[in-house]
Amino acid sequence: MQHNWKPIISQLKSAGKILLTTHVNPDGDGIGSEIAMYHFLLKMNIISEIINSSAFPEEYAFLDPEKVIQQYIPERDFERLKEFDLIFIFDVGGITRTGILGDDLARLEIPSICIDHHPENHIVCDYKVVDDKAPSTTCLVYELIKEIGTEYIDKQIAEAVYVGLMTDTGSFRFENANKYAFRVASELLEYDIKPNDIFKHVYESYSRQRMALLGTVLQTVHYENDEKLAWFTISRDDLKRAGVQLDEIGGYTDFIRSIKGVEVSVMFLEIDLNKIRVSFRSKGKVVVNQIARKFGGGGHFYAAGLTVENTLEKVTLMVLPEARKAIEQIKQ
Ligand code: 5GP
Ligand code: MN
Repeated sequence: MQHNWKPIISQLKSAGKILLTTHVNPDGDGIGSEIAMYHFLLKMNIISEIINSSAFPEEYAFLDPEKVIQQYIPERDFERLKEFDLIFIFDVGGITRTGILGDDLARLEIPSICIDHHPENHIVCDYKVVDDKAPSTTCLVYELIKEIGTEYIDKQIAEAVYVGLMTDTGSFRFENANKYAFRVASELLEYDIKPNDIFKHVYESYSRQRMALLGTVLQTVHYENDEKLAWFTISRDDLKRAGVQLDEIGGYTDFIRSIKGVEVSVMFLEIDLNKIRVSFRSKGKVVVNQIARKFGGGGHFYAAGLTVENTLEKVTLMVLPEARKAIEQIKQ
């Protein structure tokens, strides 16, 4: 896959200080992109900082032993944003996904570059490389770095790229685990990364509380439409009772989709008082980003989401009819 990196390369080479950021509730792909880019820029003697709207899940902490990733605090950081003369936004398809940092950056006129792989990208940027055939945003970052010089790639950068690739392809299981994904993975192995160790960091380091709550959730899943639709809710009270942090919930929706016969799984997670995050996963017969888009969200064909302000019950009543309708339209 070849993209036109030239304008982006000339921008980054002439930048004084670069801001790197990704979407709210960052995942392995957003964090991997930032970390890979940060260490690459460091090797090029270009100063950059990683600042995100939200905290990131503990399972990715191994990627950042130097703790360079910062969380944005408007009162403390807003004035400082003016020091940056270029912004990289990774893995973000929709403006609602940039969080408070995105809102504040929109008030400043700093040139921006977006690198992403969502099928629809609505981000307004000065330069963009968006390719929905790329299995992860980190693959695009990897391509950009290679374009400048493979000599810059080291184990830490390769590991960060691999984490985005592994998590966004569901460990090379999802439909985006294409030839390109395996080719990049095999190239990354040249840098002495250890896929099994990375897998253990990300997927075998869950707290007992998180797994116990998953057990409870499994008892409460609602099955509809001949069990093709599986949905469940998690309230703030549920989290509190279980002693589980919000950022530990990633992966529940994927797990419920793995049940035989289920085509679409939906999670309704109360992230704040009357603020609900909805996550969709599909096995491939239902395009779920179309459902999410009806409520201001979006995402990939088979992994999508949205956030709305209302009660858990009202949001289920609002969203589920659309999910049922989409399932009824599955061609036999
Ligand atoms: P998750 O279920 O892991 O929170 O999100 C799955 C995917 O859906 C994300 O990778 C992202 O592409 C998309 N997504 C989740 N929430 C939103 C949202 O509020 N707006 C948009 N545009 N996409 C979302
Ligand atoms: Mn991604």
